[in-house]
Amino acid sequence: MTSLWLDRATPVADDPLPGSGEALDALVVGAGLTGLTTSLLLARAGLRVACVEARHVGAVTTGRTTGKVSLLQGTHLSRIRRHQSADVAAAYVDANREGMEWLLRFCDDHGVPFQRRTAVTYAADEQERSSVEQEHEAASSLGLPVAWRDTLDVPFPHVAATTLADQAQLDAMDVLGALAEQLRVHGGTLHQGHRVRSVSKGGRPTVRLEGGETLTAEHLVLATGTPILDRGLHFARLEPQRSYVLALDGAGPMEGMYLSAGSDARSVRDAPGGTLVVGGAGHVVGRTDSHLAHLETLRAWAAKWYPATTETHHWSAQDYSSPDGVPYVGPLRRGGDRIHVATGYEKWGMTNAVVAARAISSDILGDMPPWAQALSGRTPTASNAAEVARINLGVGAAVVTGAVRTARERLPGTTGPAQAAACGVVGVCTHLGGLLKWNDAEETWDCPLHGSRFSPDGAVLEGPATRPLLKRSGTAAKAGDQVE
Ligand SMILES: Cc1cc2nc3c(=O)[nH]c(=O)nc-3n(C[C@H](O)[C@H](O)[C@H](O)COP(=O)(O)OP(=O)(O)OC[C@H]3O[C@@H](n4cnc5c(N)ncnc54)[C@H](O)[C@@H]3O)c2cc1C
Repeated sequence: MTSLWLDRATPVADDPLPGSGEALDALVVGAGLTGLTTSLLLARAGLRVACVEARHVGAVTTGRTTGKVSLLQGTHLSRIRRHQSADVAAAYVDANREGMEWLLRFCDDHGVPFQRRTAVTYAADEQERSSVEQEHEAASSLGLPVAWRDTLDVPFPHVAATTLADQAQLDAMDVLGALAEQLRVHGGTLHQGHRVRSVSKGGRPTVRLEGGETLTAEHLVLATGTPILDRGLHFARLEPQRSYVLALDGAGPMEGMYLSAGSDARSVRDAPGGTLVVGGAGHVVGRTDSHLAHLETLRAWAAKWYPATTETHHWSAQDYSSPDGVPYVGPLRRGGDRIHVATGYEKWGMTNAVVAARAISSDILGDMPPWAQALSGRTPTASNAAEVARINLGVGAAVVTGAVRTARERLPGTTGPAQAAACGVVGVCTHLGGLLKWNDAEETWDCPLHGSRFSPDGAVLEGPATRPLLKRSGTAAKAGDQVE
């Protein structure tokens, strides 16, 4: 399940870890688009910066994205308008415009290829038409020059579309490679294969790494996809959404980057070399009976509408939704203004990760742009509370389903906990005790509560968990610290 982008990426070199006595201005955790952009912005401003990454550059969501860089984001703008004021929606568009401009300028300056494309939100059938109309209205009212179309030059079914010209698509691993290189040029350092296990409370943040080393900095940035500290309770307000992606050979270049407006959306773009990238068939992490069935649904769709193509890669990835569609970016409550988080990009992180990096670095450097103040100072609305309740109802239902499943699977001749036993691990999430679900598409253990994922032998892959699964003997695979 390697993504097209990770498969062809050049590995990024490592630097020796700073000594525990070394004074860092900023420690950034996570080497995805958020972490590396934040690290570079701070290093360019003259700060002493180190970026630590649990796995390798781009290992989690950035290396598995579909890489559309767009201000027209499916039906996202109308979603934000339903949950937030016009001012917050306008600040979101301003922020994303700045994020997109920064990213494409960086690509131009450092020889990272990207292709200009028209972004398209389309209705696959009459039922989806009103969602596209609402998006068209929301985008127009926010000043985006969207154009309405009744037909598109594509083989798959559609009845109408709103389009925004002059957006872009890229290979996010190319961007990460250039960011890492520039980070070093500006004196920053990068350290892969070091998972942060715990963060001290109070004073200057000190992190403890899996290998026992400690690092202290004036500022800590958790660019970990979803925050690994529970202090801000972000896990209770985020929904982890996983979806599937195929790369197929044998397609021609396309005019647009397409996303359908329905709940089971289809995402389509091309990539250089005659590649077609198709995504969709998503679900909340760990909450499906068969992950493989989702992948097969996507394969059937691609085979039907692009029969002359051949699959070269398939993969899946997850991102986190916030209740109002606006990311959470800023200092962590109970983090003494020294711990910063960025999460909730809802699969629009190519622009939002740069927005977060710009907001966090300017906060640390003491110069917040107006859009950052409007976004971080937004007040929750009644509909946000309803969304939080919906997210937590889903978590509650997953707890009950997990308990029933475990009881059923304990019967002789069934799988589940038995499968965990065969792997030598206890199938209980080390974050908040969720009963793990076996992911048959990727052969991983996935938590239906807050999206933590583990390899068959229990190593953390992603999500808020920082400790491996317990071994069947009852001891942790490695002695774990509490992350609080
Ligand atoms: C299927 C899919 C398609 C998408 N397509 C698009 C698109 O077309 N356009 C768009 O704009 N956005 C898209 N997105 C969203 C976008 O890819 C993400 O929002 C973005 O890549 C997130 O970047 P990040 O740096 O915040 O997170 P990540 O890339 O996940 O980086 C977080 C890093 O933190 C590391 N980490 C985690 N915990 C620790 C720890 N304890 N210690 C050390 N390191 C740690 C992880 O290993 C990881 O490398 C898509 C998302 C998905 C899931």
